[in-house]
This record gives sequence, structure tokens and C-alpha cells, in this order.
Amino acid sequence: MIDRKMLIGSDWVDAKSGQRHENTNPATGEVTCTVPLAGTEDIDLAVEAAQKAYDGAWGQMHPSERGGLMYKLADVIDSRTEELARIESADMGKPYTQSLGDIPLTADFFRYYAGLADKIEGEKLVTPTDTFGYTLREPFGVTAAIVPWNFPIAMAGIKGGPALAAGNCVIIKPASASPCTALEVGRMALEAGFPPGVVQVVTGSGGVIGSHLAGHPGVGKVSFTGSTEVGRKILQSSVNNLAKVTLELGGKTANVVLPDADMDMAVAAAARTIFLNCGQICTAGSRLLLHESIKDEFLGKLKALAEGLKVGDPFDEDTKLGPISSKQQYDTVLSYIETGKGEGASVLTGGGLPDSPDLANGFYVEPTVFTDVSPDMRIAQEEIFGPVLAVLPFKDLDEAVQIANATEYGLAAALWTRDLTAAHRVAARLQAGIIWINCTNIFGPWMPYGGYKVSGLGFEAGMEGVKEFTRIKTVLIDTSDTATPWASE
Ligand code: NAP
Ligand code: MG
Repeated sequence: MIDRKMLIGSDWVDAKSGQRHENTNPATGEVTCTVPLAGTEDIDLAVEAAQKAYDGAWGQMHPSERGGLMYKLADVIDSRTEELARIESADMGKPYTQSLGDIPLTADFFRYYAGLADKIEGEKLVTPTDTFGYTLREPFGVTAAIVPWNFPIAMAGIKGGPALAAGNCVIIKPASASPCTALEVGRMALEAGFPPGVVQVVTGSGGVIGSHLAGHPGVGKVSFTGSTEVGRKILQSSVNNLAKVTLELGGKTANVVLPDADMDMAVAAAARTIFLNCGQICTAGSRLLLHESIKDEFLGKLKALAEGLKVGDPFDEDTKLGPISSKQQYDTVLSYIETGKGEGASVLTGGGLPDSPDLANGFYVEPTVFTDVSPDMRIAQEEIFGPVLAVLPFKDLDEAVQIANATEYGLAAALWTRDLTAAHRVAARLQAGIIWINCTNIFGPWMPYGGYKVSGLGFEAGMEGVKEFTRIKTVLIDTSDTATPWASE
């Protein structure tokens, strides 16, 4: 078992208290490593180191040089793809074949933003006569990235990319269930040549160090991804420092299939969007809305597909669903399955644990589909964050839109149809930050997104994502040689 350290400044350190957190492999239930359980005093040191870096070499560096370091970091990440994917899968349980895709995605985020580093510009203002004014888009200095466990390394790129491109330092706080690859990003940033303190990674409990970071007077911007419940706590912490906060939160994505859709494509996508990453994706299509005329045929195909998906060892290349990432989340998913049964929904497939004795110690759940679901049931309203699908029938477009919009979430929605008019009409009416038409879960650094309703605040990715890591300063010059008159003159 390895005792890992965390990165503060250029040093790999233990928590000042000496306390450690045990990290589990969810496929086996075994403790694979320990990480420092940082306290608030450790966070204070990280903020200090970041401010020092910002006041020094990093703050003075030309943006194109900054971009150059980010390109190097992307190359280092790519050069370690297999190793990082192995660490990720052992840490959070996603199939190795999927982790292999997350590593280049992370590099892509750093690369995309590397190219933007020297293109973040202010504007010339149209000002009164004899004045000249412009805006500067400036970094905040010290920023914090507090991230969940479903895409641990990708989150470092999603948030680290725009933070660094804009000229900030970033302190990454990975989730306790999956801290390992974020620590590697810290190591690779030093290897790529970033000055100490620019990228730091601190490990510990969110309730202690996450909230301390979010409200720290030295932190100017907090970028959070996680549950809506914790997102609200982040906002409460930021009352302290009035930091700019962006929140990417929970979802209950409606995947709506109209009768004219290509059924086989839509069935495959319906399974992929809820079973990929074991349903632990914020935009997972956890509600499947089927037109009543196609429902039976669609569900017959979906059931057959779901029952053919291999649940098992993340390192077996046939595995489609690994374990749930933590014991806590496993218990949550199982309790939602019981809730669904108790609410009167029918189990079309799954609904329990896989019966293989090889999987008995891991946090495995069968891919589960509930039918006879009504829109007000908890399994149709609340984010489960597991491989559990709720199927809801509709009779016409109005009803589909009404059901799709009838949750407090508004992260994403998907629509399947060949009818262009219906597609645009429905897209305009769906209350969600992303609308996928004839696809689901396509995503990349080029695509800005942000949740509607309680799914978020602000934006991530694309040009919008980098703007969120800047603040605007206005500069106004009087170009006349006369004093500004008083109002009475
Ligand atoms: P979570 O429980 O909200 O935790 C997210 C992060 O916040 C973790 O690092 C956690 O640390 C930390 N944290 C916990 N309490 C905190 C507090 N009081 N103050 C500051 N930080 C705190 O989320 P999760 O269970 O890891 O991830 C699942 C959630 O993320 C789902 O709701 C999912 O929809 C959402 N998500 C959203 C997006 C999006 O883009 N919208 C993407 C992915 C996931 P510990 O791990 O130490 O508790
Ligand atoms: Mg783990």
C-alpha cells in the first residue's frame, strides 16, 4: 500500500496534523493507498504559495509562454495515457477502456486552452468625447477547483485549463473517493515546467478543506462541480470572501424519443447514456421519455441490450459497467432501487446485485430499468447517480415537454427525431443548458455548458469557460487638457 503525499508549492507533503485518509478500490473494497487528510492550516499554506507564484514568475509571464507550458503539460499527460488510465480505474472503478478515453480528453482541455492563453482580450469602449477607455480581462490570482469523483482527471483539465490560460494559479481539491490522478496532474505540471505554486493539489474532506478554500479571503474564484446540495454550501462559504463562484451541479436529463426516430440508434444511445460510467455522469439520461406508440417495441430491445452488458472487473476489456465509485454512493443507489420498488414502479430488468461470487466484495449494481413510473415519483425527480433508468410514456409533444421540464434540474436533455421542425421547436422549449438532438453525451473543450435551474450557475468549457476565470477592469483616460467641470458650472 502506498502512502501518497499532496502538493503544496513545490513540495510533496503530509498534512500538518499527520492525519491520513484511506482510499479504496471500489472493485475489491480494498484500501489501495492513503492520502493526507489536510486541515485548514494546510490550505492556508497552499493559498500563500499560490499568491507567491502569482506575484512572481507566473504573474509576469507572457501569455504565449503560459500557453507553451500548457501544451507541454498536455504532451506529458498523453505520454502517460495507459499508466494514468490504470490509476483512474483502480481508484474510481470505471472500466479501463473508458479511462483510456478520459486521459486524452484531459490533454485536449489543456491544449484547447493553451491556444486561448494569448487571445484573452479586453475591449475598446465607446466613451464620451475627449476620453479614451478600454477594458482589461484580468485573472483573479488564486483560484480553487473543487471536483467530484466521476471524472477525476478530466475535471483537472476542465477547470485547470481555463484557470491557467487566464493567468490564474489553481488549487485542486479532488474528491476523497478518487484523489490519485489529480495528484499526478500536480506532478506532471511541475515536470512540464510550471513554477511552484501555480498548480497545487490538496487532499482531505470537502466539509473541512473544501469549505475553507471556498471562503478563503485569499481565493478570488471558486469553480465547483458536484451535487446541488454541496453547491449551495459553496455559495454559503463564499459569503465570506465574495469570491466569484461557478457551479456545475446535478441533473435529471430527459432523453425524449419521438415515434419517427431511428429506433436502433435511440435504443443504443438510451442504454449508453445511463449505463456509461455506471450512470455516474451529471448529464446521464436518467429519464427515458417514450412515445406510447413505440414504447413496447423500444423497451423489448432495451431490455435485451441491458441484459447483455457485462458488469465486472474494470480491467476486463469486455466490461461495460464497473463498480459504483464508493461504498457511500453504492448504498445510495441501492436505496433508490428500493425506493422505486416501494413507489410502485416495475423492474423491467436489473434491480439487484450481480450474482457472480467474484464481484461480491466490490460495489457492483445491475443495470436497472424501471417502467410504470409516474413523473412525481422520487426515482423520476431525484438524481440517483447510478445505472438506474426511469421510463415515462407520453402521448404528444406538449406532454413530452411538460414531463421533461417537470424537475428542479435543467442540465441537459436529448431528443430523437428525424423531423427538423419538431426538433427545433422542442429544443427551444426544453429548460436545459445542453440539448442533444439524435445524440447524447457528446462533449469536449469546444462546447460551453451551464445548468438551468438548480443544475448550475455560470458556464464551463469553450470561450465562456475561460471568461469565468477573468474579471473586468475598466481603464478610462481624459485626453483633454481641461478639468472635468462640476455639475453646477
Ligand atoms: P459532492 O458530494 O457534491 O462532492 C464534490 C466535491 O465537493 C468533493 O471534492 C467533495 O469532497 C467536496 N465537498 C463536499 N462537501 C463540501 C463542502 N461543504 N464544501 C466544499 N466542498 C465540499 O459530489 P460527488 O458526489 O463527488 O459527485 C456527484 C455529483 O456531481 C452529482 O450530483 C453530479 O451530478 C455532479 N456532477 C456535475 C457535473 C456538471 O458538470 N454539472 C459533472 C460531474 C458531476 P469530499 O469528496 O471530500 O466529500
Ligand atoms: Mg478510490
